[in-house]
Amino acid sequence: MKVLIVGGGIGGLSLALSLHAAGIDDVDVFEASPVVEELGVGINVLPHAVRELTELGLDDELAAAGLATGEFVMFNKHGQRIWAEPRGLAAGYRWPQYSIHRGRLLGILHRAFLRRVGGHRLHAARRIVCSSQDHRSVSAHFADGTAAEGDVLVGADGVHSSIRMQLHPDEGPPLWNGITMWRAVARAEPFLSGRSMVILGYFGKRAVIYPITTLGDDGCTLVNIVLEAKTAQGRPMPRQDWSHRVDRDEVRALFGWMRFDWIDVAMLIEAAEQWWQYPMVDRDPLARWSFGRVTLLGDAAHPMYPVGANGASQAILDARTLARMLALEGSIDAALDAYESARRPATAAVVLSNRLVGAETCMELAEERAPHGFERVEEVFAPGELERLSAEYKRTAGFDPVTLNDRPSLSVE
Ligand SMILES: Cc1cc2nc3c(=O)[nH]c(=O)nc-3n(C[C@H](O)[C@H](O)[C@H](O)COP(=O)(O)OP(=O)(O)OC[C@H]3O[C@@H](n4cnc5c(N)ncnc54)[C@H](O)[C@@H]3O)c2cc1C
Repeated sequence: MKVLIVGGGIGGLSLALSLHAAGIDDVDVFEASPVVEELGVGINVLPHAVRELTELGLDDELAAAGLATGEFVMFNKHGQRIWAEPRGLAAGYRWPQYSIHRGRLLGILHRAFLRRVGGHRLHAARRIVCSSQDHRSVSAHFADGTAAEGDVLVGADGVHSSIRMQLHPDEGPPLWNGITMWRAVARAEPFLSGRSMVILGYFGKRAVIYPITTLGDDGCTLVNIVLEAKTAQGRPMPRQDWSHRVDRDEVRALFGWMRFDWIDVAMLIEAAEQWWQYPMVDRDPLARWSFGRVTLLGDAAHPMYPVGANGASQAILDARTLARMLALEGSIDAALDAYESARRPATAAVVLSNRLVGAETCMELAEERAPHGFERVEEVFAPGELERLSAEYKRTAGFDPVTLNDRPSLSVE
């Protein structure tokens, strides 16, 4: 079976490696960029996705490049702690959770691809424009006038997927919720436990901050910072371009007030070398991903708000599931059906939950119930309420510890 993968991002490369591990070697990846660049800032790889990367034999590299997240802590806008929970091994998972630079994760996948599948299978500067198919094969047609033929074509071409546009021509552009995100990394001294992922504020006025490397000789780590503000009234939607750079003054004016005794966001704003901007967009869940020999994966299938840090993890799970189905099912139709049944409803639930701020619901409730802050968090939440909210999101996003620890592997023996 020959598989054409469109997009050499986290989803596309994870799929190529998963297919190789499942015994399907005839795989070509077509990437629009001229080179695989290690771009982006920090992302989280949750235990369900770390399990998949571990089963692909990438655990050592992941551990060396990222930082095992120890806890997840939520604060109100006054810097008062609402909720803290252990993460990864400390939370009882058999696999850690990693905070990592997106570029470094992509680098790990890329190097593994070169070693295992081979550099001649990665075709850079090949931007797909459309696909065509008949009962025997599927073809990818590229902007440079070339074409490639295979048995299955997977659109892993991100939030602006050309394949999705072809399959769902009436859909239109991604949907903006009016929130702008300013993103950066900065070298800084560790804060809280040194492995804490913190979220501060409420939806529409938030900071998400976490270290993504171990301590360097300078006593500092690389810290990922995402600052979010509702800008819909008065400003147009920022460009949907992951490389869109902006001036530090803009960030300082909006978030320079964020100084607490446990973290100094104003100082981080100055310490970052460069600030990037991106609108918070997603798309409505689709009723169908697969049409004949063509299907979708990752952000092309289910772009979601970065709430609960799930985008890359869900793409990795898609990849592992699709590879398993293609290896084990008797026909391409059956494989794509089984893949879609397993992954489409599951990811739609995460997209919708993220719109309702999923994992971070307690921060909205704290702002609603106690906008001026609180003496004790017990004044704001009923007994057991915070525990219940935390457990609910983990179940929705597929990383409830008991279920994940007990579920059979997706590897093909
Ligand atoms: C440059 C970049 C920086 C990012 N930075 C961050 C970040 O800092 N934080 C964060 O949370 N998320 C970031 N993301 C998004 C994040 O990587 C994804 O949400 C997630 O990993 C899902 O991965 P994916 O492979 O489905 O999509 P993506 O990672 O978006 O990968 C899609 C790939 O398809 C390629 N492509 C697009 N169109 C075509 C086409 N027509 N033909 C061929 N190839 C095509 C793209 O160049 C890209 O390599 C970034 C994405 C990109 C592309």
